[in-house]
Amino acid sequence: MTRRRVSIFGATGSIGQSTLDLIGRDPDRFEVVALTGGRNVELLAKDARALGAEIAVTAYEDCHGALKAALAGSGVEVAAGPAALLEAADRPADWIMSAIVGAAGLAPGLRALAHGSTLALANKESLVTAGPLLMAAAAEHGARVLPVDSEHSAVFQALVGEDIGAVERVIITASGGPFRDWPFGRMAEATLEQALNHPNWAMGQRITIDSASLFNKAMEIIETKEFFGLSPDQVEVLVHPESLVHAIVGFRDGGLMAHLGPADMRHAIGYALNWPERRHLPVERLNLSKIGQLRFEAPDEKRFPALRLAREVMLAGGLAGAVFTAAKERALDAFIAGEIGFTDMAQVVEDVLTKMSSEPGLDAASITLDNVAQTDHLARLCAGDAIKTLRTKA
Ligand code: NAD
Ligand code: MG
Repeated sequence: MTRRRVSIFGATGSIGQSTLDLIGRDPDRFEVVALTGGRNVELLAKDARALGAEIAVTAYEDCHGALKAALAGSGVEVAAGPAALLEAADRPADWIMSAIVGAAGLAPGLRALAHGSTLALANKESLVTAGPLLMAAAAEHGARVLPVDSEHSAVFQALVGEDIGAVERVIITASGGPFRDWPFGRMAEATLEQALNHPNWAMGQRITIDSASLFNKAMEIIETKEFFGLSPDQVEVLVHPESLVHAIVGFRDGGLMAHLGPADMRHAIGYALNWPERRHLPVERLNLSKIGQLRFEAPDEKRFPALRLAREVMLAGGLAGAVFTAAKERALDAFIAGEIGFTDMAQVVEDVLTKMSSEPGLDAASITLDNVAQTDHLARLCAGDAIKTLRTKA
């Protein structure tokens, strides 16, 4: 049996580590081509050695020396910097995991698609900033994008054998995060530590905070629209504190197809890794009689304005998704740094969306890496101003 060649972008992160866990359990099936990471060169080197990767790449030039030293004598090639990430995406591979966090994940994913590789997409910013560009690249090169976000994997699985034309609506669920029933005033005072205390999922720091503000769900609404080619009003959100039903597809005959699974990303990652087969996965088997009840609530868009902003972004189209992502990333940095409060993040994003809505070219019919990068840059500057204004008011 020929082994499948796989590369993992963002190998040192939460999704990357879960992916390596699955690959490492089945060494006869996989050959590891490239592993990439950031500043955690020790972990990157350890995994590259253990899995016999062809090449290990750190995103940062100043980490090159440390990575080289850590891999001395291993036979693993070493490279550093954004250009090296793209070169790693040029290496022939059958399956590529896109698990870099943030807007930096877009370019390597596009590059992999240009080679016709299957792209397992965890990086949600790619679809939010440049959904049409990504999906068109896949279609042009006969490449496949497989969703890894749990909600989108759930929709994908519920659609097997179905006609997308028969879909009336798609409901993605949200746990509601740690502040699900907090009043707005209390949320405004929430600390970083409280925002990091997710009730159900263990994830990277940034997505955990985005889950508390529901910015994560806001991005996922846009992701759903882009990935499945739906209209904005076909995508709904339901708060479901147990996080066991990940998505529900509603068909035109009134039937609902729900996907349930444990809150363990290795399910969605493993589904994409083995697709179109289903193979054994080392995840918990749910005992529904023990769980007893599943609750569903309508989301409160007043306390969680990110959801409303996502709808505005979808209606605006063009580069609004790039503005949204960049402003959100900048606001998140400011919250992590203690510069603004928790609920200020949505305020910053809303201010930036409003200010930039009259920017020429924002309604660009064609989205390119260049105009996304330019928009990203402008939106971060604009968010910086909005943050300054908030700080002087405070
Ligand atoms: P993480 O922060 O744990 O890991 C991020 C990875 O990206 C690390 O390997 C890091 O070194 C790398 N990285 C960071 N900045 C980079 C840059 N500028 N250039 C290149 N590499 C860089 O993040 P995560 O939680 O694993 O999430 C990864 C992506 O998957 C995100 O887009 C997230 O929204 C999405 N996602 C995560 C989960 C989850 O359960 N963690 C679920 C669904 C979707
Ligand atoms: Mg998700």
